[in-house]
Amino acid sequence: MTRTNPDSCPGVLRLHQAADGPLARIRLPGGRLEPRQLQVMAEASAELGDGNIELTSRGNVQLRQVRDAAALSERLADAGLLPSDTHERVRNIVASPLSGRIGGLADVHALVPALDTGLRAAPRLAELPGRVLFTLDDGRNDISGLGGDIGVHATDADEFALVLAGRDCGIRVSTADAVQVMLAAAHAFLDLSSGHWRLHEVDDGARRVIDILGLSPGTERLEFGAAPDIPIGWLDQDNGLVSLGAAVRLGSLPARIAEFIAAIERPIFITPWRSMVITDLEEWPAEQVVRVLAPMGLIFDANSPWLQVTACAGRPGCAKALTDVRADATAAVESGRVLPPGNQPAAASDTSGHTTEPDRATATPDSTATAPSAITDLGTTIGLRGADDVTVTGRQHWSGCDRRCGRPRGPVTDIVATQNGYRIAPPPTGRP
Ligand code: SF4
Repeated sequence: MTRTNPDSCPGVLRLHQAADGPLARIRLPGGRLEPRQLQVMAEASAELGDGNIELTSRGNVQLRQVRDAAALSERLADAGLLPSDTHERVRNIVASPLSGRIGGLADVHALVPALDTGLRAAPRLAELPGRVLFTLDDGRNDISGLGGDIGVHATDADEFALVLAGRDCGIRVSTADAVQVMLAAAHAFLDLSSGHWRLHEVDDGARRVIDILGLSPGTERLEFGAAPDIPIGWLDQDNGLVSLGAAVRLGSLPARIAEFIAAIERPIFITPWRSMVITDLEEWPAEQVVRVLAPMGLIFDANSPWLQVTACAGRPGCAKALTDVRADATAAVESGRVLPPGNQPAAASDTSGHTTEPDRATATPDSTATAPSAITDLGTTIGLRGADDVTVTGRQHWSGCDRRCGRPRGPVTDIVATQNGYRIAPPPTGRP
């Protein structure tokens, strides 16, 4: 597939003109945020935006209704959140959030700064489409299945599988070589690309990248799994400290709660599941964090129905939306119409091979100018419902139109607004 138009992913310096006002996307390589940076972001959201910080499906964040773009970029740059004017939109790096603290075969967070620095140091790599995604999986199989473009997946403490177009390409590299090989693969993608946004769009792209790199693949291939369990709640670190996995309703973090999290003064990782991990806590402070922030709306309960529900921007954020899907999804949760998984036989295993499209959390409609071809199979539609009549079991994604922006990977029931109510389509079943 050759594109005729450049990608339109927003950044801090190039805002997206959403229906509810300008939207800025801030890249967080590896999802990492220092407390001071979160504080700056919270203040910027409250003073220059709509008062919320949106968590995206690539572990980035978005601010909506930005009133003063220059002031925002200045604040973010001062906080180290905009280290490059030229490369800001290509710093799309996701990494296993718990890596280096809990389990995993290697600490991939140690590779993230080197990859980010290498990207920014190469002027040509500023030409990468904003949709290209780098993935670093520490071997626990939580990231490689996201369908990135270029990545590594730990096979032991000092060896990684090279992942191209979301698949193990059979190349094995050492820790010392991992970053340079990924950067070389990024250059190779540019060599091959003629308007393509993603490596999988290039004919035989992975093999041709390997040829350019002059590497010889082995015969072993790893298979990457579907969506993992989101790390939520109390998580014991290998070093005796504690991490807390927390989610927010529909991926929207109110600035006031963000300020409380920043005040904990511990590193924070935004996950690609629109949640976060607050790290390196002693037990007593961790207990206090849960005690204070749970009543404020931070979700530490892995059984919360909110963890089953995602939604696109809908009205009023998106001009294409047929209704306010976020309000309808919220009403469904609060009235008990989101049933726990297993309540009825709805979801099947993921056999779709879906690829994750960029940052479509409460997504920007421009990032979905074309409906993602990999999710055009809606399965069996089970009829139209008024908003108050939608009762669905397990993972579900509410969309304001057929584009289904922000739909997560894996077995998800689609709840799509139409002119005549919501169309409900469980995930396809029984496909090989
Ligand atoms: S799914 Fe439709 S309504 Fe929702 S954000 Fe995308 S384009 Fe807008």
